[in-house]
Amino acid sequence: MEQVLTLVCKLNPTQKQALEIELVLKFFADACNYANQKVKPQITSKTTIQNMVYNEIRTLFGLSANLAVRACARVGANRKTAKQKDKPVKAFKPTSADYDARIFSFREKDWTVSLTLMNGREHIKIDAGNYQKGKLKGRKPTSAQLCKHRDGNYYIHIQIKDEAPTPMKSNNVIGVDFGRRNVAVTSNGNKWDGKQINDVRDKFSRVRASLQHIATKGTRSTRRRARQILKRLSGKERKFQQWLNHNISKSIIQDALKNNAIVAIEDLTGIRERTNQKPRNKTERRRSNSWSFYQLRSFLEYKGVQFGIEVIAVPPAWTSLTCHQCLHIGLRSDKRFKCTNETCSWSGDADFNGAKIIAAIGVTLVNSPRGSNCLCCTLHTDSSGLLKAYTPTSGERR
Ligand SMILES: [Zn+2]
Repeated sequence: MEQVLTLVCKLNPTQKQALEIELVLKFFADACNYANQKVKPQITSKTTIQNMVYNEIRTLFGLSANLAVRACARVGANRKTAKQKDKPVKAFKPTSADYDARIFSFREKDWTVSLTLMNGREHIKIDAGNYQKGKLKGRKPTSAQLCKHRDGNYYIHIQIKDEAPTPMKSNNVIGVDFGRRNVAVTSNGNKWDGKQINDVRDKFSRVRASLQHIATKGTRSTRRRARQILKRLSGKERKFQQWLNHNISKSIIQDALKNNAIVAIEDLTGIRERTNQKPRNKTERRRSNSWSFYQLRSFLEYKGVQFGIEVIAVPPAWTSLTCHQCLHIGLRSDKRFKCTNETCSWSGDADFNGAKIIAAIGVTLVNSPRGSNCLCCTLHTDSSGLLKAYTPTSGERR
């Protein structure tokens, strides 16, 4: 299985190079928009698009041969994704251009990339931190995107392709419950408590609320200052979340490696609806809605592929109400679960019970021919690239 890693490095162009980059971005977007208007919307093949407008693009926008080819390919690719979502491709903004091996290369000896701009090749220095350097060492990447970010700087997104190990087969399953009180709980007892995390997030939220007040009420200069701080805060909060999701997923995958196990997670479609079902106070609603479970899940899947750990999704239908000891339906308060089966009467942490049930469903899933077991699900990837569990009884989902 091939895995693609994208490294983002800041470019340090000279003034003249920066001007040329601007032009490339502008003409690349113009070329895409031109092709998008000229070629009938139902055509998605990049070759067909190229056959129809390549020459015009070359003469009209002065792009190099391969940039013109990439522009046609971009229109085709965007149309394919748009078709899946049943939407037309609207317009292309001058913020990125695609590069392949003929117009892009990376040079390790002076940490530069060479890019074909409007007047031939240019060598541009990149900022590479230790992480990027480690990943780029000894590599000859063959594709990249030249981008202008919202901060106004130019970046190169470099793709590195790796052969990922074949996922191992195992009957051992670690269940992970994403959740209500905790960010994540695993069936072997690991827990990422929401308390400390919520404290940090609550602090951010309080500061944000007071700043938002200032941003609407104060004098002009305090309003501007408040907006600046708000922007910086949102970056810090995002980084905190990313850092924590990275650590949680890393730890779960390492645990799976150690135990020779597969990881089972809940299909998260609808987690917001479920956690919002009970009337809850504003703080709790914000907490459950704002945590990026999608990010956590995609990190898990990504790291799973990297280390040869299979990550499977199970339907969430009964996970929070079933007792993991006797499979009887029990009672759940926000944090406690109590089994109502008199001969069992297990009680304990509700998220832990959920993780155990997810693991149990995962075991039946890996032991049955895929898609044949009624309890379980066939997996397919949705448009966002995440695994999605399919349940025939999804209408009954709570
Ligand atoms: Zn029970």
